[in-house]
Amino acid sequence: MPILEAEAVVLRSYSLSDADRIVVLATREYGKVRVVGQGVKKPKSRMAGCLEPLTHIRAKFFLREGAELWRLRQCEGIHSYLGSKLSLRQFYGFSYIAELVHEYLEDHNPNPPLFRLLLSVLATGEERGCSEALVRYFELWLLRLCGLLPDYRSCSNCGRVVVQTGFYAAAERGEGCCEDCAGGKGLRIRPAAAKFLQSYQHMSPLEFAEAPGYAPAAPDLEKLTLRLIERSLEKTLKSYSHLRQTWREDGTQAG
Ligand SMILES: [Zn+2]
Repeated sequence: MPILEAEAVVLRSYSLSDADRIVVLATREYGKVRVVGQGVKKPKSRMAGCLEPLTHIRAKFFLREGAELWRLRQCEGIHSYLGSKLSLRQFYGFSYIAELVHEYLEDHNPNPPLFRLLLSVLATGEERGCSEALVRYFELWLLRLCGLLPDYRSCSNCGRVVVQTGFYAAAERGEGCCEDCAGGKGLRIRPAAAKFLQSYQHMSPLEFAEAPGYAPAAPDLEKLTLRLIERSLEKTLKSYSHLRQTWREDGTQAG
């Protein structure tokens, strides 16, 4: 009965019985893992504190012969991203990010760059606020790391470079075409957004979140990432509508 040890972020947890919870972990070493936390709902449980969503932990878990679910043996909190000083924007932003990881990270299939992205975006969001640009940065990298973001540097049909002119995205085919080749079909991505679709690759989360000239690119980038996400998951994520609502109510406030 081998015991696995992993660095993880708690994505969600739900009740299994009076005393036990199922905890879904994004681990660096093993991808997404569901573990049973036995007795963690009891008041004296020492593990309960580090099993709240968005807690960065170190965990040990094992699988009994013939059992289907892994069991948590030990966990140790490193940092909680859902602390008490959280703004609504951070709460909904982080919740949306956790839902995206829950959807895209595969069971028992590690994606270390995605795990690093998760930690760096959470850290930036905690320190500087979870802005719309930061969430977009996360989506772009997530899509890219999952092989779902086309290059969009040049027209898929004729090869003309479209960074300066913008392009038309056909999300269902993973293509982007210049104006001539698109014939008016597809999602119009104007030059401001087309440039960010190249530059995000060389930017840290903070550089992207605070990049000058982001505002004119924002609407097209939002349409594009949401279309690609909806297309690949074949559904819309509920947590995004809460987040969108918070952005709308906050207006231009940061935080
Ligand atoms: Zn073309």
